[in-house]
Amino acid sequence: MSYALHGKRVWVAGHRGMVGGAVVRRLAREPCEIIVADRGVVDLVDQRAVRDWMAQTRPDAVVLAAARVGGIAANNQYPVDFLYDNLMIEANVIRSAHANGVEKLLFLGSSCIYPKFAEQPILEDALLSGPLEPTNEWYAVAKIAGIKLCQAYRRQYGADFISAQPTNLYGPGDNYDLETSHVLPALLRKFHEAKLAGETSVTVWGSGTPLREFLHVDDLADALVFLLKHYSDSLPLNVGSGVEVSIRELAETIGRVVGHDAELIFDATKPDGTPRKLMDSSRLHQIGWNNARDLAEGIAHTYADWLDSGRRGAA
Ligand code: GDP
Repeated sequence: MSYALHGKRVWVAGHRGMVGGAVVRRLAREPCEIIVADRGVVDLVDQRAVRDWMAQTRPDAVVLAAARVGGIAANNQYPVDFLYDNLMIEANVIRSAHANGVEKLLFLGSSCIYPKFAEQPILEDALLSGPLEPTNEWYAVAKIAGIKLCQAYRRQYGADFISAQPTNLYGPGDNYDLETSHVLPALLRKFHEAKLAGETSVTVWGSGTPLREFLHVDDLADALVFLLKHYSDSLPLNVGSGVEVSIRELAETIGRVVGHDAELIFDATKPDGTPRKLMDSSRLHQIGWNNARDLAEGIAHTYADWLDSGRRGAA
């Protein structure tokens, strides 16, 4: 059961985002044509715009990496954006893909679709088996709907639409705005700025005890291209690294990478979120992908990329 990318026209929806950008970089090594479209060309929240653009462009395959994303604070603050925009983007793209004969579609879910107290490491079967983590349920509900829509198209029409949910991601192209970012870029920036300013402490949100798994976005992109070529099933697959650390350990690792030995101040007024979020990616490993890099090495690569791209201190 494989899908050959040779000569195919592959639309990467969300190519300006961290995941979409990594998928474009990875697909450049495949014998396919990559299609991208900026928001000015097609606004994915607009049903008619997506329908018309798709009918005109007619891609053979779609990687749906476009989404409204953000960290724990942004989710709480912008629930409408996280729920409505994501529902619209996925409904519009998936429906138009089917209407225009797309042969293969890969939808990106997220590890936060799983119940807050799912048994760890989390298997794909845990989906919809318990209440969600309240700090990101807006995003999670939209992502679950996208996965279900892919499954529905497969069941009702036999469409080869698949889903994968990545664990917490980091890497080039991430968001470094301290209010809306995820923890890894936030702490990279905080340590970097503390080093420049000669400050001896860095503030870490919450207790530092939550456990998170991290995957470099280029490793994710490699896994996604593998799935595009080799996976065809309704079960949405976990894509993780198996690399789990506490937020405290993450902060210490980032301090070493940045080269700044600051004291950690834990800000208990900020939420911890879910206590642990480790995915079981053994199904993905069984079908042949296992390529995740070491966390410190991945953070060093990300830090170097951030400095190179001149985004020091940029939001
Ligand atoms: P989550 O995985 O959905 O909870 O999203 P985040 O990456 O935003 O947060 C992960 C954990 O890191 C939570 O326990 C946060 O409280 C903690 N954390 C510590 N410092 C920071 C920070 O500066 N920014 C963010 N976003 N999270 C932080």
